[in-house]
Amino acid sequence: MVGLFGPCSHCNAKCCKHYAVHLTAVDIARLHARVKGFEWIRALKEGSVKKPPAQAFFIFENGRIDEYYLFLERNEKEECVFLGKQNECLVYNARPRVCRVYPFIENEQGKLECKQGCRCPEWKLSEKEEKEFHENIEKHQQELDEHGKMCREWNATKAKKGSVKKFVEFLLKRTKYKILSCV
Ligand code: SF4
Ligand code: SF4
Repeated sequence: MVGLFGPCSHCNAKCCKHYAVHLTAVDIARLHARVKGFEWIRALKEGSVKKPPAQAFFIFENGRIDEYYLFLERNEKEECVFLGKQNECLVYNARPRVCRVYPFIENEQGKLECKQGCRCPEWKLSEKEEKEFHENIEKHQQELDEHGKMCREWNATKAKKGSVKKFVEFLLKRTKYKILSCV
């Protein structure tokens, strides 16, 4: 969900009801500054969901390594846990980067294109909106890269004695100093 204006205002938040929202370390740090606890995070094993464009983190269980990704929790209707009764985002200013980027990608010429299968009504972007999408796409890639580095550090040094909760705490510790600059 991008905002209250444009097609978001009359499409009933289709994206928030349909897609699993992958979280990076920066997304978690930003949300954790707003929402305490970790109940809004869901860890999913590789293969149980469409693979996000991110590095997996490892958890050693019963003598084998399992690969996981972190997503936003879903409610009993399988909608995003932060979707309000009026289809509003309850954490709008702290929402994950992927929510700020959807439904656009940059094509080979660097122009914005709607993702294949995009659920939005037609978008007509102003120059300002177009600029914001480009900036968010760039930040998303940087945050995925940083997240990947943290996952690799965890996998190499901490995964053997780790748990999902410890991994989230590890990400928060690594990301703490960046919270103020990551909005
Ligand atoms: S599906 Fe598209 S138009 Fe609808 S809320 Fe999401 S981003 Fe907005
Ligand atoms: S965090 Fe907000 S914008 Fe993102 S999926 Fe949930 S309700 Fe939608």
